[in-house]
Amino acid sequence: MAAKRYSTREMIEKLVSFDTTSRNSNLELIAFVEDYLSGHGIACRLIANEDDTKANLFATLGPADRAGGIVLSGHTDVVPVDDQEWTHDPFSIVEREGKLFGRGTSDMKSFIASALAHVPDFLARGPEIPVHFALSYDEEVGCLGVRPMIDSVIRTLPRPQIVIVGEPSSMKVVNAHKGIQSYVTTVTGLEFHSSQTHQGVSAIQYAAELIAFLMKLAEEMRERGDASGRFRPPYTTISVGTIKGGSAVNIIPGHCRFGWECRPLPDLDPEEIISRFNAHVAQEVLPRMRAVSPHANVETRMRARSPGLAADDGSPGETLVMKLAQCNSAEAVSYNTEAGLFQLADIPTVVCGPGSIDQAHKPDEFIELSQIAECDRFMARLAEHVGGA
Ligand SMILES: [Zn+2]
Repeated sequence: MAAKRYSTREMIEKLVSFDTTSRNSNLELIAFVEDYLSGHGIACRLIANEDDTKANLFATLGPADRAGGIVLSGHTDVVPVDDQEWTHDPFSIVEREGKLFGRGTSDMKSFIASALAHVPDFLARGPEIPVHFALSYDEEVGCLGVRPMIDSVIRTLPRPQIVIVGEPSSMKVVNAHKGIQSYVTTVTGLEFHSSQTHQGVSAIQYAAELIAFLMKLAEEMRERGDASGRFRPPYTTISVGTIKGGSAVNIIPGHCRFGWECRPLPDLDPEEIISRFNAHVAQEVLPRMRAVSPHANVETRMRARSPGLAADDGSPGETLVMKLAQCNSAEAVSYNTEAGLFQLADIPTVVCGPGSIDQAHKPDEFIELSQIAECDRFMARLAEHVGGA
């Protein structure tokens, strides 16, 4: 295949045209990127999921065996548009008032598009420092896809200097973010006629108790605060997002289920909240439930867990990205990204990408053209940095 060139704008249009909502396959997008890169003489390595419906793509420009490379990382999936009021087709780009509208424009296909569109510029400089592309699937459903790519590729790479996760940060350099832990708790009680409260075990009542306990933990976390003073809000948060239970007001409910999450500061022991919750269940709640019904139960299942990103101030990789982004200081944010997983694999990582997180996941998602231009300048400086010419 002949080497084809795309402007960043054309590349964004192309990437957005693939409906890579997390529940769908991303293979068409991956095949397009693979074709494009092989047209430029770059070999790709695909890391597929178990049923071969999705894949990560890893590729290296320049000397692959050299340490100190720069990893450009992005997720290819997007959140659903279901039940959202879009004023046009989310999977084709519309330009209005200096903005490009479309699903994934800010979160985060524009970063990937800018990186890909600059492939000829990276190559033209005969890179002495490798530039690695790491494109993942299933980020939006718990940072799942990137894990096998980190295990099978990133860990075996000659140690890169820095991973740049291009989530929308308005091209600011983010060196710390919170983690995410998401759970579902199912309470099983004992149904009974509501006039006989002493014989039934109300799953709803015990769920309410458990939620009250979580809120007490949340209050404690708020008081504990954040020593770094960089996060907003400046503490670990806990929230309950869904609840369902009971069938009629005159039946003591046998089932209740609630979904909750914790957004821990990066320095919080990741086991603290869940182990205190489980201990409370085992010691304070279950014995009272089982005194009435031996089959009563409380079960908590983890739905997703992704670590926070802890600041590594002044690392050479971070200093380089600050220079490329022309930023004087690094920021901390409360949303979660794949960056914490790269850091867990012992590779310095920051977040820096075009667009604002405020536009992510929303109907009529957009990116400002000025943000795209800023990202393009970032890539041009990166090409200069890695160039041997
Ligand atoms: Zn994202």
